[in-house]
Formats: sequence, C-alpha cells, structure tokens
Amino acid sequence: MSKPALQRSRLLAQMGFFTLFAVTPLFDLFRYDLVENHAYFLTLPWDLGRDDFLAGRIGSLEAGFNIVRFLFLPVLGLLALIVGVAWKWGRLYCGWLCPHFSVVETINRLMLAASGRHSIWDRKPTPPWEPDGTPALRDRRYWLLVLPVAAGFAFAWALVGLTYLMPPFQVYHGLFTVSLHKYEGIFLVAATAVLTLEFLFARHLFCRYACAIGIFQSIGWMANRRAMVVGFERQRLIDCVGCLEGHGSACDAVCPMRLKPRNVKRWMFACTQCGQCLSACRTVNCNNPQGPLLRWVRDEEARQNEARFSALSRTDEDAGGRQ
Ligand code: SF4
Ligand code: SF4
Repeated sequence: MSKPALQRSRLLAQMGFFTLFAVTPLFDLFRYDLVENHAYFLTLPWDLGRDDFLAGRIGSLEAGFNIVRFLFLPVLGLLALIVGVAWKWGRLYCGWLCPHFSVVETINRLMLAASGRHSIWDRKPTPPWEPDGTPALRDRRYWLLVLPVAAGFAFAWALVGLTYLMPPFQVYHGLFTVSLHKYEGIFLVAATAVLTLEFLFARHLFCRYACAIGIFQSIGWMANRRAMVVGFERQRLIDCVGCLEGHGSACDAVCPMRLKPRNVKRWMFACTQCGQCLSACRTVNCNNPQGPLLRWVRDEEARQNEARFSALSRTDEDAGGRQ
C-alpha cells in the first residue's frame, strides 16, 4: 500500500530531524564538551562566563547574572516554545520530529509484520488487512530483523549521544581505528544495551510516562480545550461497522501509540498527532461521499466536539449503569 501524502510529509520531516540530531555535534551547533569542560552553541564556546569568573575578570554578581541570562532564560524559553506549540497543536514534536518516535514506529512496523502486533505487550493482534482492503504483510521471518534493527538504532543513538559529550571527530576516529578511550567504549556498550532493551520492550512506556518533553507537551495540550485534536463524527458511528470489511477498526489498528482515536481527549493523553488514524480513515472512506469520520478539529470546534463527546459518554455510562 502506498503511503498517503500526509504520512509521506511526516516521514520526510522525521528523516530530516534525525539527520539534524546526528550532525548537530559535528558542526558544534550544540553540545557539551567534557574535555574542554564547556558547551558549544551555534559554533561558539558557551561557558557562561565561568573562565572570566575564575580569572577574576568578573565578580560573583555578574557570574550569577550570566548563568540566569545564558542558561536559565534559554532553557526556559525553549521549554516555553515547546509547551506553547503543544498547547495549540498537541505533541506535534513527538509525531513529526522526535528521533525516538521514529524508532518506535520502525520497530512497531517490524513487529507488526512478524506477529500482527505492534508490541509484544499488545493482547490482541490487529486485523490482517490494510485500510485500503489489501492483505497486510505478515511473515514470521521479520522477527529475524527485530533484534538487529533495535540494536542498530540503539548503537546509533549511543554513538550520537557520545558525540554530544566528547569531541565528535575524536569519537568517530576512535571508532573507525578501534582506538576508542576505555570510558568511551564502556559508555557505548552500556548505552547500546540499555537502549536496545528500551526499544524492544518499553518504547511506548517511555513516550507515555518517562519522557519529560512528551509529558510537558501533553499537560500543555490537555490544559487547552480548544487545542487541535483528532475529532470523530460520532453521529456517523454506523459507518464504522463496515470498516476493514467488518474485521475491525483501521484507526485503532494503525495507531502507533496504541490509542483508540475515536475516544474522548482525556484518554488520548499520549497522542502524538501523527495523523495515521486520519490517513487510515480517509483511505477506508475514499468512496464515501461524506468523507472520513476522523479529522483534525481545533478552536471552538474542538471545544464543542469534546463537550458533545463527554456528554454522550456520560449518557452511555448512565444507561449502562441503569441496565
Ligand atoms: S490517535 Fe491518531 S494521531 Fe494520535 S497517536 Fe494515534 S494514530 Fe497518531
Ligand atoms: S473512524 Fe474511520 S477508520 Fe476508524 S473505525 Fe470508523 S471508519 Fe474505520
């Protein structure tokens, strides 16, 4: 099945950001050099005026002011930017840029091909159909790829991570001439092992509960009832009966975060706005004159959508309680 345009754009954005993540330390765009004991930012040394303070050229007041100006304010500014974007559009950074989420989706795809499940923790397999009605790829031999790909990504991450801390050319030279410093080698082996386990067994858990950037974005997004969200035309629920020829729901099947996209927002805390559910619903309903049932809504429509949805859910719960 060819990728919908939205997902092709997302893949390009993810690949571009992954490349930026890898080359940033090479060009001293941002890294902390443990050898020189200071950071680099946009190719310039970034020592917060520490050397001037140690040499007695500035006093403690100015040194403290430098830390606020050059460390706290930029960090707070970056955090405010990330949360501000999430407040309006949700976890776009996660779904469209984050290098960790690219790994999550790649391992998901391999496990799905091998077992029909996105993760070993999924209780039920997904329906063996693509949203366009073609049979989904299922082949146990894909298990042979899962471990090498997870370990390969983990090694790449560990290596790039090391170049954020040690001079990048020293690290790559040491790797290619097998002359890495002992502690660099230990770091690479330990980080590769830990990341391999995380990519294999806990990648969704990390996105949901352990990633500070993700959690801050989710909290910001939840706080804004008018933020962009996957909206569902609940009054057309009957149209979902024929989804995947009656073998399941395409939107549930494709969600890489294992969410149910037709749910209320409060159950979508970890939604990364990847739009896979939207693309799937668009494909399923390509011949439906009314179009897809899922689409992004925002502003007043998002607020009303959520209010309506919550009211209907309460009615359903009350009816269930009376039975
Ligand atoms: S609910 Fe939709 S947009 Fe959110 S993570 Fe799942 S597939 Fe992506
Ligand atoms: S919302 Fe769309 S993709 Fe999801 S079950 Fe209904 S028709 Fe299928």
